[in-house]
Amino acid sequence: MFDLSGKSAIVTGGNGGIGLAIASALCSAGCSVSIWGRNGEKTRHALEQLRERGAQGAQAEICDVTEPAAVAAAFASTLEAFGGRVDGCFVNAGIGGGSRVPFVERSYADWRESFAVNLDGAYHVLKVAADHMVDRARAGQPGGRLVATSSVASLFGTARNEGYGASKSALNGLVRALAVELARYRVTANAILPGYVRSDMTGELMGNERFLQAVEGRIPMRRFGDPAEFGGVAVYLMSDASTYHTGDCLVVDGGYSAC
Ligand code: NDP
Repeated sequence: MFDLSGKSAIVTGGNGGIGLAIASALCSAGCSVSIWGRNGEKTRHALEQLRERGAQGAQAEICDVTEPAAVAAAFASTLEAFGGRVDGCFVNAGIGGGSRVPFVERSYADWRESFAVNLDGAYHVLKVAADHMVDRARAGQPGGRLVATSSVASLFGTARNEGYGASKSALNGLVRALAVELARYRVTANAILPGYVRSDMTGELMGNERFLQAVEGRIPMRRFGDPAEFGGVAVYLMSDASTYHTGDCLVVDGGYSAC
């Protein structure tokens, strides 16, 4: 049921953190994966890691997801590498919103940057992937998986990081809309909502003892998540086990949102 042999998928932001863990898990289940990242050296290193672990079919693209032309070119190159077929697309690239500046002091440029990557970037990639899946369905081969990495910040008030929370809430809305519109093509669309996870994005927070104590005490599991803990849900959403599961926001947060 969880065998992904013969399937192919894109993971944006796949060169580190949650994205690389998702890519690694998909590869282990037999999927051919294309990791997309901005940073060339980091992306090449991540690809080497995947190949060393046996993912010979893995490939990579250097792509800034905020640039529609770059997204179109990376998608075309991925399609060629995978013989004209992409079965899944994980829009995972994102930025955290950084330095806890109060709303009244934060610049409009900061707000726009969160939306440019977390929402518009996801939109550009989902657009080319959905276009490909709809074309394929019309040619008699329906099916496809769209998965966005959102955040529990889309559910809670993200004080001093409004752009991040708002962009992720909008991402949930986009995913639900696609789930409804694309179901007729047997394309599913879901969001994964991580809680606090150890990655480059949260590196600075991890060094803040006061913050760590305050937040870890509120997580029923009493710890931050590890990127590897997102591999299972990614494999599930890519697999035949989830053909009827669409339009959902799957919360993976150590119980944070349950209390
Ligand atoms: P990382 O900082 O490790 O990963 C972020 C990824 O996004 C990197 O691969 C980065 O690539 C890529 N990226 C950023 N901007 C762009 C861009 N413009 N174009 C292409 N790629 C880009 O953090 P995480 O692994 O933690 O984050 C992954 C996702 O998970 C994000 O969407 C984040 O919002 C979400 N998330 C994370 C949580 C956490 O606690 N860590 C909690 C909830 C959600 P490069 O390095 O090449 O720029």
